[in-house]
Amino acid sequence: MTSQDLMHHMRSSGQDAGSWLEIDAAAFESNVRNLLTMIDDTALLCAVVKSNAYGHGAGLLLPSLVRLGVPFVGVGSNEEAAIARRCGFTGRILRVRAAAPQEIKAGLRHDIEELVADPQSAWEMHKIAAEAGKLVRIHLDINSSGISRHSLDVSSALGRASAVAIVSHPGLQLAGIMTHFPKDDNGHIETALERFKSQALTLLHLTGTPREGVLLHCANSYAALHVRGSWLDMVRAGAVLYGDSDPRAGHFQRCLAFKARIASINSYAAGTKVGYGLTRTLNRDSKLATVTAGYGDGYRRALARQGGVLVRGRRAAIVDVVSMNSMVVDVTDVADVSPGDEVVLFGRQGSAEIAPAELEAANSAILADLYTVWAQGNRVLVNDEHM
Ligand SMILES: *Cc1c(COP(=O)(O)O)cnc(C)c1O
Repeated sequence: MTSQDLMHHMRSSGQDAGSWLEIDAAAFESNVRNLLTMIDDTALLCAVVKSNAYGHGAGLLLPSLVRLGVPFVGVGSNEEAAIARRCGFTGRILRVRAAAPQEIKAGLRHDIEELVADPQSAWEMHKIAAEAGKLVRIHLDINSSGISRHSLDVSSALGRASAVAIVSHPGLQLAGIMTHFPKDDNGHIETALERFKSQALTLLHLTGTPREGVLLHCANSYAALHVRGSWLDMVRAGAVLYGDSDPRAGHFQRCLAFKARIASINSYAAGTKVGYGLTRTLNRDSKLATVTAGYGDGYRRALARQGGVLVRGRRAAIVDVVSMNSMVVDVTDVADVSPGDEVVLFGRQGSAEIAPAELEAANSAILADLYTVWAQGNRVLVNDEHM
């Protein structure tokens, strides 16, 4: 298959589906480049691709990270690590959550660096490493930020003794000390950062570890963009690379659009009720279109009440409660609508936009809670100049 054929195949395989996500390669690369430029010479970048690259498709975006020479990627699952290696990523891989022993064992072949925060799982990890005749690089996750999620409290003598015990296992090699901020709040981050630096230096001293051999890291996207002192040796960024960050924080573009198509178009008289439960009544003679996406595609029913979609650059209100694989929208005011027309459920169409704030308000959830499950894995890479 030539790359032209492949591109055609990828396009059609996504766009033959009822719904799909378009992933903008150029926007993603521009975001990565922006962040690299910002932190270059100061800190390493760990590009976080957990949850299948925040639902964007790890396999679609890893080639960009390889091309841009990003030194670290942050994964959740072994599968994401395998995808990274398959895409030719030869840099370092950090798992950004605590892993079960079964995952750690199976992940050895991808050379994953693991977070460790308690003596018992450290002992399990040591045994797995020793049995395989390997050394596992570990990052000690400490609770300086107060998140209390797989993180060791080293404010007590017992906690510090646990840290020393963890690091003493011959199957494990201390490669980093880290914490993770639970709040997007500068004041909180600045206080936690000072505690982290002081606790990390104490641990280096207690374990007799030279400073140069260990990466100190704590910044997520928010901290990296808003608290410069948080970069330390490495920035672990996810959200900002996908353009899911405060638009005032710089030139980071959204990389994703959720799309479907118009199937059927029907006219109904005023007073007609619509959809399951017959919950809506038309207050005028209406032209209604069926869209080829529903809650089974990740378009939550919670969005129906306030939700709208874009058709031919115009907004069309959702009229029904959203079915499993379709929804009904009001296209009475959209001229020339036809079966096959593209429908934008999230993103831009012409100058119109379905914006993040709108969906977050309707769903009372962060956008990532929505987009990580959209379109059931139908993803298409667009704007990829390398294909
Ligand atoms: C998800 C995650 C990140 C990235 O967070 P963003 O806010 O998406 O940048 C960094 N570190 C850890 C430990 C994480 O779990």
